[in-house]
Amino acid sequence: AKARGRNGYQFYAASMSGDGVERLRMEGLLRRAIDKNEIYLAYQPQVEIDTGRLTGVEALVRWHSAELGQIGPCQFIPLAEDTGFIGQLGQWVLQEACRQMVAWEAQGLTMPKIAVNLSVRQFERGGMAAIVTEVLESTGLAPHRLQLEVTESIIMNTGDALQYVKDLHAIGVGLAIDDFGTGYSSLAYLKQLPVQTLKIDRSFIKDISQGPDDEAIAVAIIQLGKSMNLSVIAEGVERADQAAFLLRHGCNLAQGYLYGKPVAAGEILARWGGQG
Ligand code: C2E
Ligand code: CA
Ligand code: CA
Ligand code: CA
Repeated sequence: AKARGRNGYQFYAASMSGDGVERLRMEGLLRRAIDKNEIYLAYQPQVEIDTGRLTGVEALVRWHSAELGQIGPCQFIPLAEDTGFIGQLGQWVLQEACRQMVAWEAQGLTMPKIAVNLSVRQFERGGMAAIVTEVLESTGLAPHRLQLEVTESIIMNTGDALQYVKDLHAIGVGLAIDDFGTGYSSLAYLKQLPVQTLKIDRSFIKDISQGPDDEAIAVAIIQLGKSMNLSVIAEGVERADQAAFLLRHGCNLAQGYLYGKPVAAGEILARWGGQG
């Protein structure tokens, strides 16, 4: 059985309906999906709340299978992790995200930065710094324009996490702790990590204006980030009242449906290009 509590586990387990046949089929299809051009990226804007200015995008992987239809990352990322395909998939995502940054530039859109998610299986194996270096060199993207998102639980569950984070920091890429607040980090440990950004998990944003407890956690994370000189971004911002609350409490960066859903690169260009 897989670890409980992993993102998407229940959805994943249900979709497998207890037998390995469907799973095996999906696994086989996933392995060929890159070559069949079925894997692509969607991009979600990250903005300054007060000005509406674009500060970057997060790259989110998508799979449109000819046989199975649209499959969500919460389904195929765990599958890719279990089968070892995640290394190839993760490297493809990284390469494609960096390539897109350069392509936007050529089309007149200077995207300040792109955030790319790292999976636990990519991270814990080590050697990410070498892979990232190679991708940056091959695409010509400057390191500071790439931000890697690593979840709090990945960091807490990887023995050499501190060294790996330092290695990535050394090559000049940015690091964000994703889903912050859900993983029980020790603050003493956090302080040692050369990260620049905390990403407040959507679960704490969801209940803003609905419950004082969740508001308290969001406010605590904002203050923690500030006291550690980190930038803090809220994920899953869907309503104007959430944005106003965040701004009032000192968090001026947000990502969520209020500002835009994840969309194709061309849509990002159409909406944000030509604005200087
Ligand atoms: P995540 O990194 O926490 O990404 C944010 C998820 O929240 C995305 O779901 C995004 O579409 C969704 N979201 C954004 N704004 C809102 C909002 O306002 N309301 C709601 N309800 N949802 C919002 P998505 O794209 O389905 O991705 C799910 C997860 O799959 C991601 O969570 C991440 O853990 C993983 N994932 C996605 N792409 C990659 C990838 O390239 N590599 C790896 N390793 N994991 C990925
Ligand atoms: Ca993320
Ligand atoms: Ca997240
Ligand atoms: Ca989250």
